[in-house]
Amino acid sequence: MIDVTKIRKDFPILKREVNGKPLVYLDNAATSQTPQQVIDVIVDYYSNYNANIHRGVHALSQEATDKYEQARIKIQTHFNAAKAYEVIFTSGTTHSINIVANGFSTLLKKGDEIIVSAMEHHSNIVPWQMLCERTGAILKVIPMNLEGELILEDYHSILSDKTKLVFCNHVSNALGTINPIKEIIDAAHNVGAAVLIDGAQAAPHIKADVQELGADFYTVSAHKICGPTGAGILYGKEEWLNKLPPYQGGGEMIAEVTFEKTTYADLPHKFEAGTPNICGGIAMAAGLDYMNAIGFDEIAAYEHELLEYATEKLLAIDGLKIYGTAKEKTAVISFNVGAIHPYDIGSILDKLGVAVRTGHHCAQPIMDFFKIPGTVRASFSFYNTLHEVDVLVEAVKKAKSMLE
Ligand code: PMP
Repeated sequence: MIDVTKIRKDFPILKREVNGKPLVYLDNAATSQTPQQVIDVIVDYYSNYNANIHRGVHALSQEATDKYEQARIKIQTHFNAAKAYEVIFTSGTTHSINIVANGFSTLLKKGDEIIVSAMEHHSNIVPWQMLCERTGAILKVIPMNLEGELILEDYHSILSDKTKLVFCNHVSNALGTINPIKEIIDAAHNVGAAVLIDGAQAAPHIKADVQELGADFYTVSAHKICGPTGAGILYGKEEWLNKLPPYQGGGEMIAEVTFEKTTYADLPHKFEAGTPNICGGIAMAAGLDYMNAIGFDEIAAYEHELLEYATEKLLAIDGLKIYGTAKEKTAVISFNVGAIHPYDIGSILDKLGVAVRTGHHCAQPIMDFFKIPGTVRASFSFYNTLHEVDVLVEAVKKAKSMLE
């Protein structure tokens, strides 16, 4: 059982007020808040051992290197990667996906097919469209139904021996749907295609086991799991990471450089050109430590309670419609009230101290599918409370009465 009163004390930001009202932070799918334990790790890094890694003989550089590599091992353990060097530090999911999309330029030819789901974030669409432009590969889409679930029969029918790569999110940021990625991965492997799973929205709620899933690539952003922005990882199976060319050239990613020819460093350094976000990587692991100490099963059970409570209360508001009603979903509620523009509702909620996201949530194809300009999205975390759900519901009622 989660002790939410105790947990909330770890998050200094939750004590603040916004527009004279206690902050009710329900924009966790965009960025989660940071507990003091992670803030302390960041302060400790800059106070005590800030130095460049893998380069210096001096003590600080060695300490920073050790902590960074320990963080890699913690992340490896969390996601159960077979090898620590299968965990590549990146600036986040967008960077991770671009590494793979860029690498596949050398592996695809005209007429090859790659498959995307209908409910992706733009960062899991646009890099692949750019890849298709470069290679002549064809992009196919797994459609979804009105509940916001992928139609797997259609997926199976577009898979063929032309399919080289499938990419899909584990959890949709706009709808909260948890996708059946094991089935998606197994079916792709049956036709010899590789699979990239965008785990940005799953990582805060589900402890993914990349070996059990069989994912060839899995991407995560630190700022959604109680860590800082500008940090994240690309998990890749060793055989795939070895097949892909490096994404960026520079220091740290080479074995030997001459003006005639450069050879690349081994994994993971081949994909880690330049000085990375050292503190970010270390703090990402600290975010996972914090969440693991609470327990992912406990987090999922508590967030499910928040989801059910919020869904019931919100649906009692006349004219309110929820988009994304999949049987398997995380605590994300995307909604509209009658014909009121989501931005107008979001602005009034902000005046009442309630932080939600409004708009297309970087998932325009989903909004086009539902024929709406956007939604109001309330996304919950393990530090939210049932009382905060009540505040949200009252704020939506107030916004509705002012705008209708
Ligand atoms: N994919 C999904 C499903 C996301 O929710 C996000 C973040 N909103 C991203 C990708 C992009 O992550 P980042 O901005 O951290 O690179």
